[in-house]
Amino acid sequence: MSGDLGLVWFRRDLRLDDNPAWASATNGHATVVALFVIDPALLDKAGEFRAARLLGDVAALDARLAEAGGRLLIRIGDPGTIVVDEALARGVGTVYVNEDVTPYATARDAAVKADLRANGIDWNAQWGTLIHEPGSVKTNAGGLSQVFTPFHRAWEKVPWLPWPTPGSAALVADAGEALPVAAVAYPLVEGLAGDAALPGEIGAIARLELAAERADGYDDNRNFPAMTGTSELSADLRFGTISPRTAADVIGTATPGRAALVRQFAWRDWYAHLLHATPSLVSAPMKPRYAAIAWRDDEEDFEAWSTGRTGFPFVDAGMRQLLATGWMHNRVRMVTASFLVKNLLIDWRRGERFFRHLLVDADVPQNVGNWQWVAGTGPDASPYNRVFNPVLQGQRFDAGGDYIRRWIPELAGLGNKAIHEPWDVGPLELAAAGVILGDNYPSPVVDLATSRARVLAAYAAVRDETPSD
Ligand SMILES: Cc1cc2nc3c(=O)[nH]c(=O)nc-3n(C[C@H](O)[C@H](O)[C@H](O)COP(=O)(O)OP(=O)(O)OC[C@H]3O[C@@H](n4cnc5c(N)ncnc54)[C@H](O)[C@@H]3O)c2cc1C
Repeated sequence: MSGDLGLVWFRRDLRLDDNPAWASATNGHATVVALFVIDPALLDKAGEFRAARLLGDVAALDARLAEAGGRLLIRIGDPGTIVVDEALARGVGTVYVNEDVTPYATARDAAVKADLRANGIDWNAQWGTLIHEPGSVKTNAGGLSQVFTPFHRAWEKVPWLPWPTPGSAALVADAGEALPVAAVAYPLVEGLAGDAALPGEIGAIARLELAAERADGYDDNRNFPAMTGTSELSADLRFGTISPRTAADVIGTATPGRAALVRQFAWRDWYAHLLHATPSLVSAPMKPRYAAIAWRDDEEDFEAWSTGRTGFPFVDAGMRQLLATGWMHNRVRMVTASFLVKNLLIDWRRGERFFRHLLVDADVPQNVGNWQWVAGTGPDASPYNRVFNPVLQGQRFDAGGDYIRRWIPELAGLGNKAIHEPWDVGPLELAAAGVILGDNYPSPVVDLATSRARVLAAYAAVRDETPSD
């Protein structure tokens, strides 16, 4: 091993357990420095929830390292120069990272690696952010499947790599620069208490335990946004305060509910593998014919959607949950995204950018993959002619209207049927509930049948012109 000093450059792996980069460095060197670079190019694009979460998790990692006799060296600026400068100034032998799949991260890492190598410093990159690394899940045909089910079948059979065990290196105790905000808002998911309300790895382990306790019911409850029926681990997975493998291991597959939850981790791996293999997915449709769709650029409609004022209560409730908390239930993500793309015929990339900014768990491969799924432009996507009906979706998955009432209090006085389609309610019932359509709650921005016909025509136009997928 060259050099007594190893440097771990933390990015989206803000934990010490099941962290291959951390384990390799602390086993391979007498002394290790832990570095986090706050990259304004990324932080400035993050909405308040993700920024707060990141800084909270970074502070928690620092606290964990301090307990072990070290500190997290925090630097603010361009990681492209900072990592190399720190490594050179300190006489580092090897820089360790866990890899990421986004085009931005891939280009950044390639440049840093080349610069380090040119200065005689080694680069050690492993995968600690996914259950299986890109390229390791192959179907019988030998490649990465463009269809999820065969990918999942192959994914289940790939053996897990050995669990990394941290070594006993001494830790460098330089703290670096202060975090840009003094107070970090926490918790970000309401209703958490005790350790589960803490940021960082300690909090994530407690949140995982709670998720595992309710995992038996996952299959039955996952589609009902008024319930806490899902794991709510997405932000922990985004920042790596828990490794997906640890989460899958703790949850297990002993019951149908548990197996269904662990299957979602395969979707997460799949979208990451797809983006790694095809970086253009980040902005181009996987199915090229859809690049020619004539999207509408209607600012008023986009404004109505993004502020939760479309007049469709289930859609608006979802957007208001996002605006208020930085998180939205998966069922409602599907419905709100479908509404933008299909009913408003607005380019999925605008919605993707909006979600990417605001979501606490915004993760490029997952966000892009799911938006392309909804738009019907991606691999194994929802059929192009499937247009979610937001009223039926609400009636089915929020039959009692509890989710709508929670996020749109001005509709709370309406009955369980009326709350899903207030425009169809008589004036007396509206008045009794204090709802004035077009005043304290908007009238619908589109007619569902007309907008459905409009999007089908727009998709049909490009399908007819370019017959192959
Ligand atoms: C339009 C749209 C945008 C999305 N953007 C993101 C995003 O930026 N980041 C993100 O992590 N998820 C995204 N998702 C996927 C999904 O909605 C969230 O992962 C989920 O709601 C997070 O809640 P949870 O942790 O309780 O999920 P659970 O249902 O408990 O699932 C457990 C974990 O599996 C993974 N997972 C679950 N569903 C999916 C999925 N459809 N695709 C990929 N991974 C999944 C997540 O890591 C999740 O935390 C998006 C979905 C849609 C429809």
